[in-house]
Amino acid sequence: MSDPLIPPRLRDDCFAMPQGVDWVPVATALARLREGLAPVNGTETLPLEEAAGRVLAKDCTARRSNPPAANSAVDGYGFAHAATGAGVQRLPLVAGRAAAGQPYAGAVPGGHAIRILTGAILPEGVDSVVLEEDCATDGATVAFDGPVKPRANTRKAGEDVVEGAVALAAGRRLRAPDLALLAALGIAEVEVCRPLRVGVLSTGDEIVAAPGMPAAPHQIYDANRPMLLALARAWGHSAVDLGHIRDDAGLLAAGFDRASAEVDVIVTSGGASAGDEDHVSQLLRDRGRLTSWRIAMKPGRPLALALWRGVPVFGLPGNPVAAFVCALIFARPALSLMAGSGWSVPQGFDVPAAFSKAKKAGRREYLRARLNADGAAEVFASEGSGRISGLAWADGLVELGDGAATIAPGATVRYYPFSAFGL
Ligand code: AMP
Ligand code: MG
Repeated sequence: MSDPLIPPRLRDDCFAMPQGVDWVPVATALARLREGLAPVNGTETLPLEEAAGRVLAKDCTARRSNPPAANSAVDGYGFAHAATGAGVQRLPLVAGRAAAGQPYAGAVPGGHAIRILTGAILPEGVDSVVLEEDCATDGATVAFDGPVKPRANTRKAGEDVVEGAVALAAGRRLRAPDLALLAALGIAEVEVCRPLRVGVLSTGDEIVAAPGMPAAPHQIYDANRPMLLALARAWGHSAVDLGHIRDDAGLLAAGFDRASAEVDVIVTSGGASAGDEDHVSQLLRDRGRLTSWRIAMKPGRPLALALWRGVPVFGLPGNPVAAFVCALIFARPALSLMAGSGWSVPQGFDVPAAFSKAKKAGRREYLRARLNADGAAEVFASEGSGRISGLAWADGLVELGDGAATIAPGATVRYYPFSAFGL
């Protein structure tokens, strides 16, 4: 019999793996998440001008070619290439001109030229254009130095997009340039997925719901809810403020019941660990088909992934830094998939480190980082996950893989600007 009063050796690393606990690597948790989720149903048809930020529910097919007809790429003089050669060319000008929106009705005879402006349809008999700066003219004849390349300074019909081609595929979240493309192709309306309703809930007896309210010394303001609501909005979802609920299983269950009728996915923060006061994970384990938690990741060890009445629940850690990082790493791709725009993988890039760090094996780490003037990643002075100022300081995250690593200044590290996470 071992003595029940011999304590375990104290460790200064709270992420050291306790014996017998199954830590889930980040990649495993992401894979499980991806398998377990599906897009929500429902589409609507919107006029193009209201569709920015929305997700295409169907492929968009070009109703006409871009450009619809061959035209001039410059202001200059147009003619048939076949009648020109090397050396100085002198071509008589036909009367009139071809301009954008004012097509030339006649044909230009071989060996003649016509004044033509950018965007004008090439008149019959014209297949090449010389830039006006390369020409001399007396008003009756135009002269330029040959040879000119065939089809010089012209745009072919459909050289950008051909009528009937898929211009943008289903799942695309429409950005400003996409609207330009679809408009050019004659697409007036698009079928888009209905917005994903993301409910955001804070938990904890110590939390004061709004920064305008009085707070006693043992209380703290809810920092996570405004942050998570803003993230959901930035990702193009419909963010629903579910408020704050105390650490009480009955109140939490009632809150989840209400929320699951109103939103497609619930994002909570706080109480996601396995301690006495971690009511969210306890409740989700008892009644919410908890699927995964204790991610081998810093910050953000406790992460509850569960279903409440069929509605996915992301139980994020309470610490704002951990809640933020977990939202970027786990919630973002998951919400993207649910919203119909597919699983999203952030694009990071390799930069030199401007810091030193010895990292233990067995967990992935994300450091609050930003690039210095030399393009090297510096990290926030403290790794404390309560240091919200470090989040505001950072422009991105440095990712350190699951293995052990010793990083010295100049070593290559993976940097993800916040824009890689759609921010
Ligand atoms: P928990 O995950 O509930 O154990 O909380 C971890 C830490 O995060 C505690 O110090 C909490 O007070 C803090 N915390 C939890 N929720 C929030 C919140 N919404 N805003 C700011 N801090 C929070
Ligand atoms: Mg708590």
